[in-house]
Amino acid sequence: MEIGTMEGIGGRLAVAGIVMIACLSPLSSRAELSPLAPEPDWSALDAFQETMTREEFVHWVNTLFSPDGSFWKFTIINGNEVTLFADKEHSRLLYRLRLAPDVDSQLPLRATSVSGWRLAKGGTSSTKPLRGLVICLDPGHIGGRWAKMEERFFQIGSDPPVIEASLNMLAARHAAKLLESAGATVVWTKRLFEPVTTVRPSDLREEALVSLFPSGGPSVLPASFSPELERRIVREEERLFYRNAEIRARAEVVAKLNPDLTLCIHFNADKWSSHPTRAELIPQSRLVAFVHGNYSEEELRYDDQKWDFLFKLLSRTGIPEADVAESIAKQMEATWNFPPENYSNWAAARRVGPSPYVFARNLLANRIYRGPVVFIEGPYMNAQDTYDRIIAGDYEGTRIIGGRPYRSLFAEYGEILARGVTAWAAGSTSTVVSH
Ligand SMILES: [Zn+2]
Repeated sequence: MEIGTMEGIGGRLAVAGIVMIACLSPLSSRAELSPLAPEPDWSALDAFQETMTREEFVHWVNTLFSPDGSFWKFTIINGNEVTLFADKEHSRLLYRLRLAPDVDSQLPLRATSVSGWRLAKGGTSSTKPLRGLVICLDPGHIGGRWAKMEERFFQIGSDPPVIEASLNMLAARHAAKLLESAGATVVWTKRLFEPVTTVRPSDLREEALVSLFPSGGPSVLPASFSPELERRIVREEERLFYRNAEIRARAEVVAKLNPDLTLCIHFNADKWSSHPTRAELIPQSRLVAFVHGNYSEEELRYDDQKWDFLFKLLSRTGIPEADVAESIAKQMEATWNFPPENYSNWAAARRVGPSPYVFARNLLANRIYRGPVVFIEGPYMNAQDTYDRIIAGDYEGTRIIGGRPYRSLFAEYGEILARGVTAWAAGSTSTVVSH
């Protein structure tokens, strides 16, 4: 399942009816930032000055990063200069980006500690087509004793429990073996069912209060809350922990590992009750691969997200993300043949590129992990077509499930990922960008 979709917005809506603290003075006049986001370092974007033409910049904004045009509300583009403001009224200047007049005068991306990504072309060896590539695997969610808190756990009657983090790890292990045998160096954001972050929910009390009561602050909030409010605050601490602090800690791991590509590996689910029954299994799984993009106006209010927007766009990670997502989607379709997601009534995801399986979405992980990131959602854990294969676990060879022989669903998922990456690397013509 997907992470970090609302980033505190849900919390704000959830307490909209609480009058006692709704109209107090602002907490501070500092920039608006997403939960737990650091203050952006605008000078770090200087490495991208004049590295892209206006034509290319506008193309990426309009087709991938801000197809609904929200970004332009915060900017003035004049000749080859983009002026970015914190607000739609253009009262607080954030950054001036100079674009190149034309391709011939466009500067190469320079070596910098925050440079984007390199794409070494896959090796020429037919037995080791991924030699030279560093692939980072990011099995989604924490799992273990945290799985219930994360709402990534369910159990039907006396069936084995379904814990998404465990399933993601099984698929990732299969992928790792195959990627390594194809010559890739495989690195991980995590190998255990424990948090990567050292932060714990109770450390996030202040942030939870800010998130729930954006107009309040420690000095004006009461010292104690009703039991019901207290539960909401604890819940918010937990959400900030597993959706936010955890992903931010993994982003630090990714930054150190400096991979050519990161794969976020998940299984999807449709909504259902808290005590599900077999009768509630939905008929059919759907599949999706996310690339980064499609910022909403609400998200662009945050200065850190404006920084991330420019960083991602100017690093041109959109190119390998689209190619890898497309390549993996082809393998998913060939192996599983489930239909693509249909997000026609959901503005957060937008179809991009030729594949019906590939959507752009602004997730915390694909926004703040450095380098190209492709976020894959495997079949639904609570669908009739996969549930029995999920609870069968991982195994060698085939097993009869529902009267048909099946290989392990996790082995198939690993193969889909490895084949998709290998096919992409074999066909990749992208140029090498140095760090
Ligand atoms: Zn997930």
